[in-house]
Amino acid sequence: MRAALSTLEVARPRDLAHALKLLHASLDAGRLVPLAGGTDLFVTLNSGLVPGRRFLDLWSLRELRGVRDQAGRLVLGALTTFSEIREHALVRRRYPALAAAAAEIGAWQVQNRGTLGGNIANASPAGDSLPVLLALEAVVHARSVRGTREVPFTALFRGYRDLALEPDELITAVSLPDPDAPPPLRAGAARRGAHPPRAQQFFRQVGTRRAQSISKVALAGLLRLGRDGRVDLARVALGSVAPVTLRAGRAERVLLGARPSAAVAAAARAALLEDIAPIDDIRSDREYRRRVSGNLLEQFLRVADPRFARR
Ligand SMILES: Cc1cc2nc3c(=O)[nH]c(=O)nc-3n(C[C@H](O)[C@H](O)[C@H](O)COP(=O)(O)OP(=O)(O)OC[C@H]3O[C@@H](n4cnc5c(N)ncnc54)[C@H](O)[C@@H]3O)c2cc1C
Repeated sequence: MRAALSTLEVARPRDLAHALKLLHASLDAGRLVPLAGGTDLFVTLNSGLVPGRRFLDLWSLRELRGVRDQAGRLVLGALTTFSEIREHALVRRRYPALAAAAAEIGAWQVQNRGTLGGNIANASPAGDSLPVLLALEAVVHARSVRGTREVPFTALFRGYRDLALEPDELITAVSLPDPDAPPPLRAGAARRGAHPPRAQQFFRQVGTRRAQSISKVALAGLLRLGRDGRVDLARVALGSVAPVTLRAGRAERVLLGARPSAAVAAAARAALLEDIAPIDDIRSDREYRRRVSGNLLEQFLRVADPRFARR
């Protein structure tokens, strides 16, 4: 049954410090539920599955906004919307997989209102930004009245919809390393030769239809080829194929050192099936998800290496 709006309370904090105080103080008397764009929370209101009656409206907190380059890391405030991500010049240039995922999330209305922090905190295995953030080795910045912490994306999801965050912590930002930054030089060493080749990025989600559908499978990846044509960096992350978004470590190990080809793709697909654990649910079934995961991996390799078809 729908939750009547008149029975709900919304607290509007003055600033982040005030929001954190209110959230902390609420823990004993029914936790305030953080409210960002509301695109997930309003669905729960409509279905009667609302997680609380008292909300903490984050929308006006300037501390959670903005996208900035900080010494080569891109820092995106938790309230950055998918429209902002999709249109941001530096994101499009340096993190095309994230821009691609942002452009696939819902329709424009949802992209204008839905936030990166909300997608992460909602912790759905079908959240489309999550495989990209995992492949890009993002770090989540969390803050409470006790201070700030950085949680690597790899350590964020403990289990199905179970985040490694305290109930009085807010996500304030997400930061991303530059995937094409050259490795740091040893003291006194001079950099020699040309800049190493860029890693190719990939994102694709498969749903019931091409647009505006929740993912049955999503795959994000980074692949870099060395000058000898062999893979020297491989990251593959998938959503909707396990209780949490995951990195496909076995498939990545098959790819490392290989020259992508049909035979390598077949071996990587076989390894991928050991990495994932899809289930049957209302959106799809296990067998379909296994097959599509392999197809997406092969598509990623074909796109990332133009010599794939000639080997
Ligand atoms: C029609 C429709 C289509 C959609 N399509 C897609 C899609 O294709 N792909 C996809 O991934 N998602 C989709 N979504 C889901 C949703 O839009 C995204 O998950 C969005 O990113 C949620 O962000 P929000 O700001 O609206 O979160 P909210 O609804 O405000 O909050 C979501 C959860 O996160 C918590 N939260 C929010 N911000 C913070 C914070 N800073 N710190 C701690 N906790 C926080 C809230 O308490 C709540 O539990 C769709 C939703 C709708 C309604």
